[in-house]
Amino acid sequence: MTELIPIREAQEKILSVIKPTEPELCFSEKAYRRVLANDVFSPLNLPPFTNSSMDGFAVCSNDLINASPTSPVQLPVKMDIPAGSGNIATLKPDEAARILTGAPLPVGADAVVPVENTDQFKSGQSTILPALVTFYSTVKPGENVRPAGEDVRKGQLVLKKGRVLQPQDIGLLISLGIRQVQVAKKARIALFSSGDELLEPNENLTPGKIYDSNRFVLTGLLEAAGAEVIQLGVAQDTKESVIATLDRALQDLPDMIISSAGVSVGVFDYVQQVIKANGTLTFWKVNMRPGKPVAFGNYKGIPFMGLPGNPVSAYIGLIVFAIPFIRQIHGLPPFAQKLIKAVLTEPLESHDGRESFYRGFIRRENGVNLASLTGHQGSGNLYSLVQANALLIVPAGVKVIPVGETVSAWALDSSLGE
Ligand code: AMP
Ligand code: MG
Repeated sequence: MTELIPIREAQEKILSVIKPTEPELCFSEKAYRRVLANDVFSPLNLPPFTNSSMDGFAVCSNDLINASPTSPVQLPVKMDIPAGSGNIATLKPDEAARILTGAPLPVGADAVVPVENTDQFKSGQSTILPALVTFYSTVKPGENVRPAGEDVRKGQLVLKKGRVLQPQDIGLLISLGIRQVQVAKKARIALFSSGDELLEPNENLTPGKIYDSNRFVLTGLLEAAGAEVIQLGVAQDTKESVIATLDRALQDLPDMIISSAGVSVGVFDYVQQVIKANGTLTFWKVNMRPGKPVAFGNYKGIPFMGLPGNPVSAYIGLIVFAIPFIRQIHGLPPFAQKLIKAVLTEPLESHDGRESFYRGFIRRENGVNLASLTGHQGSGNLYSLVQANALLIVPAGVKVIPVGETVSAWALDSSLGE
């Protein structure tokens, strides 16, 4: 029997095939989930010009210093400043300007009185500029004004190298007029499923068949890690189909080809054979459960990972082996899974001492994390994974962990805490 290799050794072998790559330019609007290769400094002030934060009237605060409900102050309305107005107007003392949110504050004004606090707040407001406006209270200098540079100063460091760009980061880049950013290469993964039993989502379920769920689970995990997924569909259980699918994968020059199923020792499991004949099989059994038959090597020089077919094994295999590979290509630390501690409310067993991942649910009671199992742990049973918020870990070499012991767990839900 081939030796089972430890998880960490398998991970290291996979990471060792990554070649360093140059960063590339990416349009800011396309950079969601890309990893910044450089620090980004602001070329502008934000907001770029001093503007109003309310719909109302721009004034010189000094003119309203005596305004009160019993002695209102009335000023002539000299101009209208809508949002988008390109001319920075000048306001003289004892004048007001009607101004809308986001419109540039006129020179000479230092505050905005919201329309609600004037005599102009009435139903059916008119677009016609009123001749006069009455104020009933004072306003502080700077009130309802957003000064240029309040949010970001020109030259300021706003996004650091290594940052995984979030939607709000893209918003900031666009607001700053930054058209392109240098980002790490995006990992390209060619993905296929294998098996004659697999159906497309729109096909009718017929006897002996099942839907190809792995493709969608794996695609989701890969895309969440920021990889580009090249879809190759399903390879049939023939040597020719497996070869044809792998050859198609090569055309897209992926960083890795990932398949699910067909890697074990069944008579129709051709994946291993084909890899051996056309590349290298570095390992194909890892000391873990679920997910022992994980194959890794290369097909005609391109890294290849064959995940098991059982849905939970494929899921765990992907997060244990493929996600670190993708993170490393993206220039991120490869191992970033959040580990938490929890006290067992039922025992965990691994009769042969393989490192095991149990689908569990952790709940917090009186400040303590309590872990239970989420049902049948068969590696084909996706529902217990759907119900899980963590994977409870039995380390290699340990055969049983009794109730009341503390275990480490991988959080599947980012809201889980220590
Ligand atoms: P195999 O590795 O081909 O022996 O497959 C192991 C188990 O996983 C079998 O029960 C398959 O039917 C199942 N399986 C294989 N591929 C998929 C898939 N893409 N989606 C869901 N289940 C699958
Ligand atoms: Mg199969």
